[in-house]
Amino acid sequence: MSGAREVWIDEKARCAGYESGEALASAHQLKPYRIEQLYRAATRELVDDLDGVTTLPKELRSALAAEKFRFDSVDPVVIQRSNDGQTTKGLFRLHDGNEVEAVLMEHHGGRNTVCISSQAGCAYACTFCSTGQAGFTRNLSAVEIFDQARYFAKQLARDGRKITNVVYMGMGEPLANMDNVMASVALLNDPHGFGLGHRHITISTVGLVDKIDLFAQAQTQVNLAISLHAPTDATRSKIMPVNRKWSTADLMAAVERYIRKTNRKVFFEYVMLAGVNDSDEHARDLARLMKGPLYHVNVIPYNSTPDAALRGSDEQRIWAFAKILEQHGVAVTVRTPMGRDIAAACGQLRAQVERNSIAAKHAAAAATRAS
Ligand code: SAH
Repeated sequence: MSGAREVWIDEKARCAGYESGEALASAHQLKPYRIEQLYRAATRELVDDLDGVTTLPKELRSALAAEKFRFDSVDPVVIQRSNDGQTTKGLFRLHDGNEVEAVLMEHHGGRNTVCISSQAGCAYACTFCSTGQAGFTRNLSAVEIFDQARYFAKQLARDGRKITNVVYMGMGEPLANMDNVMASVALLNDPHGFGLGHRHITISTVGLVDKIDLFAQAQTQVNLAISLHAPTDATRSKIMPVNRKWSTADLMAAVERYIRKTNRKVFFEYVMLAGVNDSDEHARDLARLMKGPLYHVNVIPYNSTPDAALRGSDEQRIWAFAKILEQHGVAVTVRTPMGRDIAAACGQLRAQVERNSIAAKHAAAAATRAS
């Protein structure tokens, strides 16, 4: 059995009340080829649910369904599409009521990127991030992570399209949930299942130095992105509390070890915050940290969040900043913001829904008081 398939069936079995995939198999006298049929139906054929697996005997399908064996571990609660139709954001409910977000971005030229969450909430409290402001709830399981991609893959499959890229840039810190994240990468990658190449997957981290070293040892072709957002400790510690544990120098040293070990490009994310990290001097300091062609900066326009007292830099500042990097020979791209009209930045939709429901609760309370 492939590792990914075991992870999948074990988790599905646990949701149905069994200890493991084996326990489920023996309870239903499922031969290995039956497990393979289920796994392929969910991950490769992207079948909606058990009813769609017509190769399975009907009695078996209803017996499994009666035990809460489900293909999906995440339920869409809100699905919003941006006005230009390019961005679709989903808020998904997990079995215990927690909610996470995932976003599909359909780029011109056929690239379809899904941004997925690895944790409900996040413990790292970056000041500019909605998720960080809301705090940490729990790690997602490998299948809960994978099923976010499965949801959008099913949508795309309806008109013969596929997910081409997956980025772990939704809610949570992927490297703080490394085992489940790596298991979800195996599910995405399995050539007998979902079949997405490692090179089309990117893991983004707030900068956990010990985990970056572990990730380097794993020697996968999965891309690494580092949320740098400031070139000096003075600025970085102000907006990213994690910098008090590992300084910018610690982080850059870990990146250097990673590059030496893997010879792979590293993407540095740099969100532009007006008056905080966007001066010419910041750009020159940042350029000094970028030591060659394997260091790539993604300059990111800030998606303002109502709960942080920060503003994004204007377009002119963003381009001037990128220009300085370029003049210093740094590989740089400016990310185009997508889905601003649907609150597509990390944690924003959940924050909005929560605020709306708080508003609704206040309104209901007021109505009760008035009556
Ligand atoms: N915890 C991981 C991955 C999740 S956040 C990390 O820190 O990398 C994915 C990226 O979105 C990070 O670079 C994060 O700093 C950035 N981000 C968070 N809130 C944002 C916002 N409102 N606008 C733009 N980028 C944001």
